[in-house]
Amino acid sequence: MKFKFVFIFLLIFGFSFAQKQRKVVFVIADGIPYDQILTHKMPNLQKLAKSGGIFEAYVGGEKNGYTETPTISAVGYNSLLTGTWANKHNVWDNDIKEPNHNYWNVFRFFKTQFPEKKIGIFSTWEDNRTKLIGQNYAEAGNLKPDFIFDGYEKDEKTFPHDEKGHFYNKIDDFVMGKAVETIKKSAPDLSWIYLEYTDEMGHQFGDGKEFDHALDELDKRIGKLDETIKFREKNFNEEWLVIITTDHGRDIKGYHHGSQTNRERNTWIATNFSEMNTYFRVQQPAIIDITPTILRFLDVEIPQEKQFEIDGIPLIGKVSAIDLNAKLKDNQLEIFWIPIERIGFANIYISTTNNFKNGGKDEYQLVKKIPVDDWHTTIDVSKMPSNFYKIVLEMPYNMINRWIFVK
Ligand SMILES: [Zn+2]
Repeated sequence: MKFKFVFIFLLIFGFSFAQKQRKVVFVIADGIPYDQILTHKMPNLQKLAKSGGIFEAYVGGEKNGYTETPTISAVGYNSLLTGTWANKHNVWDNDIKEPNHNYWNVFRFFKTQFPEKKIGIFSTWEDNRTKLIGQNYAEAGNLKPDFIFDGYEKDEKTFPHDEKGHFYNKIDDFVMGKAVETIKKSAPDLSWIYLEYTDEMGHQFGDGKEFDHALDELDKRIGKLDETIKFREKNFNEEWLVIITTDHGRDIKGYHHGSQTNRERNTWIATNFSEMNTYFRVQQPAIIDITPTILRFLDVEIPQEKQFEIDGIPLIGKVSAIDLNAKLKDNQLEIFWIPIERIGFANIYISTTNNFKNGGKDEYQLVKKIPVDDWHTTIDVSKMPSNFYKIVLEMPYNMINRWIFVK
């Protein structure tokens, strides 16, 4: 009897011990082009990304396509948060006038499934919480993070402003200090750290020694984060996914951003996680891929109608296919995709409405089921006349979607 009890106890204890608690922290370091990360010495970033990697990525959507998205800060943050481009999330500049909260952000997906779990924001810009996460918006669910450290840019007493923007260095330092303190002690399940100093130095001085210094300062902060994550993993039964990225690159001299030049579009994603997938390593991932990655890591199930809208592809786990393309001629819709895991079937759905945008429901029709490995097919849409189609491929490991406008 006693033996049996001990055995059951060990079984339960052993099982719970094996299940590491998964936690995520993502960092946006503002406005750092990929070439800077390639050439500037950042030993702490290298150390953090030792078993994961630092890879070239992009922002800005499809150049000249319907998803083209300005290479502007808040626009980039919201592309990350929602896994969609600006044509959906509707943040076009830093004013954040009418964010479309029908496209849920990563925190909302997470908290809806796990209301008891904790989220944190550590940020040198308050709008990230109030407008993008949407604490100030009922239609965003008034989601309030459990740990909040932001708004210091408005506190001119503690952080007196100087013309050249060096006060951002002090705020970033304070913000990272609060982040590591909180993570070390309380380990929120999902945290966002946002640091601004690099972007400010770019705007003020362009490429050069001030920007280099800002990168050095950032690297020190990343070092503190790295130490903290390693402390948690060593002392607690936790597994951490750290993702560090930027919201846009800069123009050729390093002052500005907002357009679609290569240097403004080319960014990077660094991670500590050793099991990134082939898509991450072989293709060029995008900022919109980060949210689907986090949700997959944290075992968050995305409702089908919301999954249909997400533009990003998970960077961990298996992926069925990427890069959906479509063209329409004489009522024949020709679609193409790039298969990655060449097994199973793709359910092809088409809708001629876009009610989702306004909080409504789209009437999708399942028009075809074909092997993922077929990589293309043609669909007769003469019975669905429209000047607009939304196409979704639902596959074993991921979904891809595309809009097409008929001229
Ligand atoms: Zn920016």
